[in-house]
Amino acid sequence: MPQQIPFLDLVTPHRDLKSELLSVLEKAIDSAGYIGGPMVKGFEEEFARFCNVKHCVAVNSGTDALRFAYIAGGIRPGDEVITVPNTFIATTESITQAGAHILFVDISEKTYNLDPQQLRAFLEKTCAKDRQNKKTINKQTGRRVAAVVPVHLYGQMADMDAIIGIAEEWHLMVFEDACQAHGAEYHSKRNGEWRRAGSLGKATGFSFYPGKNLGALGEGGAITTNDDETARICRCLRDHGQARKYYHDMEGYNGRLDAIQCGFLSVKLRHLPEWTAARRRNANRYNELLKSADGVIAPFEPDWSRAVYHLYIVRVKNRDAVQQRLAETGIGSGMHYPVPLHLQKAYGHLGYGKGDFPVTEKAAAEILSLPMFPGLTKEQQESVVRELVR
Ligand SMILES: *Cc1c(COP(=O)(O)O)cnc(C)c1O
Repeated sequence: MPQQIPFLDLVTPHRDLKSELLSVLEKAIDSAGYIGGPMVKGFEEEFARFCNVKHCVAVNSGTDALRFAYIAGGIRPGDEVITVPNTFIATTESITQAGAHILFVDISEKTYNLDPQQLRAFLEKTCAKDRQNKKTINKQTGRRVAAVVPVHLYGQMADMDAIIGIAEEWHLMVFEDACQAHGAEYHSKRNGEWRRAGSLGKATGFSFYPGKNLGALGEGGAITTNDDETARICRCLRDHGQARKYYHDMEGYNGRLDAIQCGFLSVKLRHLPEWTAARRRNANRYNELLKSADGVIAPFEPDWSRAVYHLYIVRVKNRDAVQQRLAETGIGSGMHYPVPLHLQKAYGHLGYGKGDFPVTEKAAAEILSLPMFPGLTKEQQESVVRELVR
């Protein structure tokens, strides 16, 4: 093979930071500080500051972050929660784990994120407002529709002004799935300023899975929120429902994030702004290289968005053949995601079928994730595009 261009590079950043990362380990070993303690508190404060939000609660995965956010924020067993079928299954697993039912609404063809117009159309057609009790009922099931979960997929935020506006009209809570969007920004006209992912909803779930823009050296996640009570309950939930050792206010989970991982994350968080800048530079370079490429649709970034390009997604008609060709020339690529959630075997019981979410289904057949990581070089990008359009 003439070249090897990986889909992502998890070796170089950690090799570059090796001595700092090892000193985190030494600190933990010397102090026997493995659970809780100053490294956890330190990282939580730093990440809250990074997101421009009041609280951060570190937990052991993005999936648990979402589950705890939903439960602490007020989703109750038997409620229904709206999200998109174009996402990773953790978005919806956590809804079910909170005891709620999943409802899907289709995405926008341009941004691949929740389409506010489709959200409004769904609510108007299927739901009724109970103005007196300030809640919304699904006319078909009689259940309360409690919340909507926009997913900031691929590192670009959903259209939050529009979604929050609709949610207020319909008495819905908004939870962000920012597992792919650390540091992504949205220009909110409501607030008259740029806002970071994790600072707009009632609470937000982040993932620090190694491949994410900010990744631990293992599993990790966090909830961010401006709501004191939601943060307090999340802290309880991650630690067996106790605010004080062996005094349990509620049943919880073993959902803490190790001190060592928090220490690693603090080291890496300091480099995140420069890594994000590199990802954005690489995305611009791909955009330039693809300008004259027939049949390849590059990502769309609205003027209200500053995306962090967790993934760089193009659309091509003959996707499987293109991916095969890239693989044969040593270029890694991915599909995010090949099977929409409403067509997964795990969700057969929800009763959805082919054709229910046409925008998602069409995208699933055509999307291809190109190599994207901060250290990707211009030469590598030129090779990728050369093979892509060949
Ligand atoms: C990664 C991811 C999650 C889950 O995070 P984990 O840390 O793997 O549990 C949830 N939602 C989305 C969109 C993700 O990409």
